[in-house]
Amino acid sequence: MTNPFELIKSQFVAELATTSLSDTAAVDALRVKFLGKKGLVTELMKQMGGLAAEERPAFGKLVNVLKAEVDQAIEVALATAREAELEQKLNSGWVDISLPGDGIGAGSLHPLYEIREEIVDFFMGMGFHVESGRDVETDWYNFEALNTPPDHPSRDMQDTFYLDKKVMLRTHTSGTQIHYMETHKPPFRMIAPGHVFRVDSDATHAPMFQQVEGLVVDRGITFAHLKGLLFLWAKRLFGNEVKMRFRPSFFPFTEPSAEMDISCVFCSGAGCRRCKHTGWMEIGGCGCVDPNVLKNVGIDGEEFTGFAFGFGLDRIAMLRHQVPEIGLLTANDQRFLRQF
Ligand SMILES: [Zn+2]
Repeated sequence: MTNPFELIKSQFVAELATTSLSDTAAVDALRVKFLGKKGLVTELMKQMGGLAAEERPAFGKLVNVLKAEVDQAIEVALATAREAELEQKLNSGWVDISLPGDGIGAGSLHPLYEIREEIVDFFMGMGFHVESGRDVETDWYNFEALNTPPDHPSRDMQDTFYLDKKVMLRTHTSGTQIHYMETHKPPFRMIAPGHVFRVDSDATHAPMFQQVEGLVVDRGITFAHLKGLLFLWAKRLFGNEVKMRFRPSFFPFTEPSAEMDISCVFCSGAGCRRCKHTGWMEIGGCGCVDPNVLKNVGIDGEEFTGFAFGFGLDRIAMLRHQVPEIGLLTANDQRFLRQF
């Protein structure tokens, strides 16, 4: 009769001879075929249960010897294959550990963010509270409470993104003043940096840009306080050499109102194309809070007075870094941003 032990052993030897000894997966497949749960040797061991009691010891001994032999041969083959694979890995690619690693460059602050932080830092140092405000405003906060009734011609000054008749994307941060005055009792000083939205787009206007709004309400506040504060602020931002001036202007929510100019950053006031040869550049609007605005929020205009100002952050960043187009600031082009 055919000896099943010899049969399996010779089959194993034959298959081992044709198995690649540089491939651990192939050796492992061989192990599974003979020693796995349904492997040939395992199946043979299961047959022991069907044998007569006196036949079992001899059978058991033979099958154990076979299993040990296969086991050992597989271990040796596996070790050989692992070594061969390692060798191949080392030969196929080598690492020069003296080469510099992949650089992860440190980023830098976005010029708009940097300006915003600098401005906030200045006013916080002056005891101002920082409010964030909201991007969507109702007609009351964006216009009416700011002394701009529905038929007021100044509404034509701004082209507004309306969400519906009475709700809009804010056209200025001034609405935050109203929210603040409705919920706080004077005296107070606050600034409100944030995004504003207007239907407007060219080299110096963007449909979305950032403003910083400021408001001070206290007893005995005058226009002189406003001018003193803003001139100090401009010196901090543009350097001690900068010259400043106020020009009379009009805003519905301030009286009197002024536009603030600084000497041109491109020509230091001598006159150039950028400043239209005037030597001056406008950076924002300001004025004393109109008594009607104080009345709208229930503040006694006899007891308290105040001033307010608003500046475009994008415009200040453009002047500071001499950026020719406002769109560059928000396009997030790496080639542009890397310069800062
Ligand atoms: Zn100039």
